[in-house]
Amino acid sequence: MSSTQDLDYPQLLFQYNSGFLLTKIMTTACELGVFDLLLESEGPLPSDVIAERLGTSAYGMERLLEACVGLKLLAVEMKSERAFYRNTELSNLYLGKASPKSQYHHFMYYSKTNYLCCHYLTDAVREGKKQYKRAFGISSEDLFEVLYRSEEEMIKVTHFLNAFWSVCGRDMISAFDLSPFTVICDLGGGAGGLARECISLYPNSTVTIYDLPKVVQLAKEHFVTPEESRITFHGGDFFTDPIPEADLYIVARVLHDWADDKCLELLSKIHKVCKPGGGVLLVESLVDDDKTGPLDALLLSVIMLVQTEGKERTPSEFRKLLTAAGFREMQVKKTGKLYDVILGRK
Ligand code: SAM
Repeated sequence: MSSTQDLDYPQLLFQYNSGFLLTKIMTTACELGVFDLLLESEGPLPSDVIAERLGTSAYGMERLLEACVGLKLLAVEMKSERAFYRNTELSNLYLGKASPKSQYHHFMYYSKTNYLCCHYLTDAVREGKKQYKRAFGISSEDLFEVLYRSEEEMIKVTHFLNAFWSVCGRDMISAFDLSPFTVICDLGGGAGGLARECISLYPNSTVTIYDLPKVVQLAKEHFVTPEESRITFHGGDFFTDPIPEADLYIVARVLHDWADDKCLELLSKIHKVCKPGGGVLLVESLVDDDKTGPLDALLLSVIMLVQTEGKERTPSEFRKLLTAAGFREMQVKKTGKLYDVILGRK
């Protein structure tokens, strides 16, 4: 589209303006169970039957289903002037809860947490800080106290974190040849979404997941199966407690939660305990050095503003942090997915 046309009809701006509707329509259909019902049903279903089975109004469900067709999340077929709906392949694969690659929890977390915090983006920009108090009426502004405010919430957050690695964990772990590193520690590794990919790709490796004690307890109870014997856990606070010696430290989606001084503190601590010749694998969404994109990384950085003390960083910013922490070499791999990978060597 030429710039004159842009000015006659600013299509791009109208698309941006509807952005919140797109996420709300998709996640409302997820929350009400539309994709799960259609995944289980023998064939396409009419709107009134879907409404009845899911306990909603027929009028509201009809609007929702029509919009989902517009978003290519559902397909529709007219039979005797009646609309019958079925899932598209995309929804079957990624929106039904039962699918192994389901992003249901990922999108629900965006809808229930990120969306609410972003409602206060103006305040976040004015004040330069996270917005949990306004969004949730919770007095704590500590990210992990808020996210882990009950076991139910912890389970949801953990499903959210794991979901993403089910579709691109392998891209992160295979970005560099990690086979020389056999003793691996996944710092802030949560319930092991990435650790699982790591042991499956590198049969000689063992991974210790280091995370807060309550996360470790939850992961052991609900997320890691006994067959995964090459995964062990270590509960602690990586800022105040000792961290185990290893050849490689995976630090995935952790540094973007913290300001530069905390990142440097953690990286320096890792450098001290890392075996000579060992390394640190950072998994983060990289902003281009010229700051022109990619859009996904820039958007994620806004989420960091409303929820954390951190931001998404450029390769140059990571180079500065890694060098200051004592690492001597740094290689960057853009994966083409939401997250990229940096390997720093001691
Ligand atoms: N690395 C995981 C992933 O990519 O799925 C989880 C990333 S999540 C954004 C940050 C993780 O850091 C959480 O699992 C959280 O519990 C952990 N964490 C936060 N503060 C911590 C601390 N002080 N000590 C240890 N783990 C911490």
